[in-house]
Amino acid sequence: MAEDVTGTPGRLGSGACDVKGVPRLHHLHYHARMCGIFGYAGKRTDAGVIAIEGLKNLEYRGYDSWGIASKCGGELLIEKNIGAIGEIKSEDFSGRCSLSVAHTRWATHGGVTQRNAHPHLSEDGSIAVVHNGIVENYLELRRDLKAKGHTFLSETDTEVIPHLIEEELKKSGDFAEAVRSACMNFDGRYAILALHTKSNMLVAARTGSPLIIGVERNAGHAAASGYFIASDIPAFIKHTRVVQYLDDGEMAATNGRSISFMDICTGESRAKREIKITYRLEQAQKGDYEHFMLKEIMDQKESVARAVNQDEGEIRTIAEAIRRAKGTFLVGCGTAAKACMAAEYFFSVIAEHHVNFAPASEFKMFHHFLKPDSLLIVVSQSGETADVLEAMRVARDKGAKVLAIVNVEGSTIDRDADYTLLINAGPERAVASTKALTGQLAVLLLIAYALSERLKDGKTLLLESASAINDMLNPRFVERLEELAEKIHENDDLYIIGKSWNYPMALESAIKIQEVSYVHAEGFAGGELKHGPIALIEKGSPCIVLTGADEALQDILSNAQELKARGAMIIGVGPQKFEVFDEWIKVPEAGTAQAILNIIPIQALAYFLAVKRGKNPDMPRNLAKSVTVK
Ligand code: GLU
Repeated sequence: MAEDVTGTPGRLGSGACDVKGVPRLHHLHYHARMCGIFGYAGKRTDAGVIAIEGLKNLEYRGYDSWGIASKCGGELLIEKNIGAIGEIKSEDFSGRCSLSVAHTRWATHGGVTQRNAHPHLSEDGSIAVVHNGIVENYLELRRDLKAKGHTFLSETDTEVIPHLIEEELKKSGDFAEAVRSACMNFDGRYAILALHTKSNMLVAARTGSPLIIGVERNAGHAAASGYFIASDIPAFIKHTRVVQYLDDGEMAATNGRSISFMDICTGESRAKREIKITYRLEQAQKGDYEHFMLKEIMDQKESVARAVNQDEGEIRTIAEAIRRAKGTFLVGCGTAAKACMAAEYFFSVIAEHHVNFAPASEFKMFHHFLKPDSLLIVVSQSGETADVLEAMRVARDKGAKVLAIVNVEGSTIDRDADYTLLINAGPERAVASTKALTGQLAVLLLIAYALSERLKDGKTLLLESASAINDMLNPRFVERLEELAEKIHENDDLYIIGKSWNYPMALESAIKIQEVSYVHAEGFAGGELKHGPIALIEKGSPCIVLTGADEALQDILSNAQELKARGAMIIGVGPQKFEVFDEWIKVPEAGTAQAILNIIPIQALAYFLAVKRGKNPDMPRNLAKSVTVK
């Protein structure tokens, strides 16, 4: 759609109408923050209570304040505050409430205050808006609206939205149309959910952050009994598994009985498929674990096997595409980038095939090499990572094809890629990625085996490894890591080395430890130590050495000796015990899949380091689960 509208005069080119498929890279904006949106319209009468519950299931996305507005009886009740999602008086918010919007905010414009928390209201109080992202031209809009007599109560960019919708509503009298025309005036990438008390409607619009609709039906009825609109499925999966995805540049309007979809730019209506979510609800719950991070580490008993369970024909087709491509590039961010980097070794050692890795944020600089027959493989847990989406657009621009390896089905990356492999890890809610990484590694390893015409061998190895993980993650093993964390948790610096695929795993170990425990951790290629970092080593410095029974073993053991000679405390991780280790974490031998197994005890160590240092591993400071900001 974008191409034929970019030439439209006025604001159309800079706001909602210039998002997807636009070939000009300098037009890309990724300012949308992670944070949560929830809304409900339908027959239920406890809309406020389910909104708070829904919001709690979006907590993992990170936020600094929260708020809710619900139409109860004839009035709009509002509750908002800073800090953790609080309690609302359920007697006020149930029994007579059928419409609600709720929000977890990550402040971008205006401080973290109760007043700045969403929802924000129109002048007459009949429109309540929650918003993710940034209205980049809000100052200008605010000035215009003030001139028309509107008063502003907050410092946010968001507050212009309900006021502008109100102005537009005066013109058309149609709420959905008013939201649509207001959207045409906003620059930036965002998701908006607006509630209108007078028409009992909810209208959602998306040009950046995800919005997903949940359709609820009473058994035996074809007509819907209610609609949920949220940033992610866990917010409403308790109520329905039938979903519809809003794409960039689209909006949805519902009165709780039916829903309609349209293009923001043209107003044309859009047809939407309903998709049934198949994963179990329990997978998104903490169960008996204190934190999601520990639960998700333990989930790897099963999740690696699920990742391996791919359609063999598809894997072979992908291997063939890699063989034929003139240049295959692997990109991802953070932990997923480490999976890509490990895959460079998989493809070299297993398939004798060269692929190029780049962090997604750096990929743009390599577009000079891209050709129409190049292949881009992107790896992302959430499927919403802004830097990855940009890399995809860079590749598309050159006519290259994109294969995505993602966890979240229906995510933007999943839907935008030419081809997707799902890792089937189940929802990953802790910010620190654990089971998604091992799933990504398993899929990449499988492709490397397929490329060397040994898919069956690869599958067997991975399934054996999956069952070894199941054995490894026993209570004694976990206890051992807790003891080790107890021993080293007061150290402020920690080093990790590896060689071959254990080198990206050393980098990943460092990220894992940094992000949840805030210990200064650094990972190195073992051979690089003597070129600088070894100067950091002091008596007692804990150094983790990742090993495998492979061609890199002797070299990494020599590096361990070099560290030990400078007084380091050596923590060996791998299948064999060596003299040089002061501590040894025994990991089953897994051949070319060793990286997948070695990283698991480090994830658990990072978890326990966080807990022992009094940090909440599920909510690391300054971080969000899926980084939809560039
Ligand atoms: N820019 C808006 C604000 O600062 C929305 C931030 C968000 O995405 O939560 O209020």
